[in-house]
Amino acid sequence: MSFADAMITGLAPDGGLYVPAALPDISIEEFEAWASLSYAELAAEVIARFAPDMDRATIDEACAAAYSAAVFGSADVAPLAALVDDTWLLHLSNGPTLAFKDMAMQLLGRLFDAELARRGEKLLVVGATSGDTGSSAEHAMIGRENIRVVMLSPWGRVSEFQAAQMYSIDAPNIVNLAIEGVFDQAQDLVKAINGDAAFKAQHSIGAVNSINWARVAAQIVYYIWGYLRLAPGVDRVIQMAVPTGNFGNIYAGTIARRLGLPIRFILATNENDVLDEFFRTGVYRVRPGAQVVETSSPSMDIAKASNFERLVYDLHGGDGGAVGALWEELARSRRFDLAAHPGFAGLAEWIVSGTSSHARRVETIRRVAVEDGIVIDPHTADGVWVGRARRTSGPLICLETAQAAKFGATIVEALGQPPPRPAEFAGLEERARHVTVIGADVAEVRAVIETVAAGRS
Ligand SMILES: *Cc1c(COP(=O)(O)O)cnc(C)c1O
Repeated sequence: MSFADAMITGLAPDGGLYVPAALPDISIEEFEAWASLSYAELAAEVIARFAPDMDRATIDEACAAAYSAAVFGSADVAPLAALVDDTWLLHLSNGPTLAFKDMAMQLLGRLFDAELARRGEKLLVVGATSGDTGSSAEHAMIGRENIRVVMLSPWGRVSEFQAAQMYSIDAPNIVNLAIEGVFDQAQDLVKAINGDAAFKAQHSIGAVNSINWARVAAQIVYYIWGYLRLAPGVDRVIQMAVPTGNFGNIYAGTIARRLGLPIRFILATNENDVLDEFFRTGVYRVRPGAQVVETSSPSMDIAKASNFERLVYDLHGGDGGAVGALWEELARSRRFDLAAHPGFAGLAEWIVSGTSSHARRVETIRRVAVEDGIVIDPHTADGVWVGRARRTSGPLICLETAQAAKFGATIVEALGQPPPRPAEFAGLEERARHVTVIGADVAEVRAVIETVAAGRS
């Protein structure tokens, strides 16, 4: 399967996730030479290695258009800012929806559209979002000729700002579906739709949520970018703290490491600590949807981590059968245990984890505002808190995953005043809403898809 095919189809016909058969071979000299590239140039180099099947000029154009000052507010695209204590903040949320999801999605919207135009095809994107992915995907797809979007979100469980950002979109090719349930139920509905190969083919359904391989590929770029800003010469280990929900962001980091960058990861969860538990104990224990805790870092309120399957696959040396058996065990008993797996002990050498809490994120937002004069969002604060708690000596880069403006209530609690809000978002919550609320029922979702596919929406 080519990169373009994996991008367009999203999930494999059996519901599995795509991973590359082999990783590109990138030498230390190449990494060093990349230190002088702009973000857009670096992105094109990296994507071209993963997508040898795609036309290089198409990749160059898409990267130049996506990673521009017009879209990300500065020529740097992802600026690195210094905090106290040899700690750094990699700003990934200067895109149109103020969350790091834009880093991949702005590229994907353009690559998708170009590839579909080349094939003379149209695509119906069906996705699930806990708030930021959907908003980011929708904003990347508005007005794209060959793409329609049906986006499922958990009704009442995304922030006011996120809801307003999605539901205020008034574009004929974007449909918002709010599900009476939690994010994992929305995700399961999308998986069910994708598991029906005939239905999927009939309506040309694809995905651009966090399980799309192309999205992971685009996210690898900012790990390399961040690393090269701090360590030209590529010879010292840099720690990176990543706030995590679906394991999508940090999984891209693990690929950057396998490409040769000496990175040590610090994974941060909120109170929904499925992944922290795994990295501490080797036990992966998913929770029922009803046990998901609603927190003040809602984009990480997740009971199971869909991209985690890819790490387990890598741990098993690409043995899909072993992974299939583990997921069957998961379906039976909601858990599996890798503590005795030879690869598990090795993980601890380069990935450690921790759990944040509401009190810790509020304290961290306050501390960074006082010490550095920067207002960070609650998810980023989870990463900064766990990063500082689990770091060893040497520089620590904390990935900023959203802007504080999206999570006003928590910022008011921490700082006594609302976060700064970019001018173009004034009055966002007052705009008219375009959303349909339905039960967490696959038949209802199918009915909507059939309507949209028939062009009646
Ligand atoms: C999506 C998101 C996360 C979690 O990212 P994953 O790729 O799911 O691990 C963290 N913070 C914010 C603000 C997000 O939007």
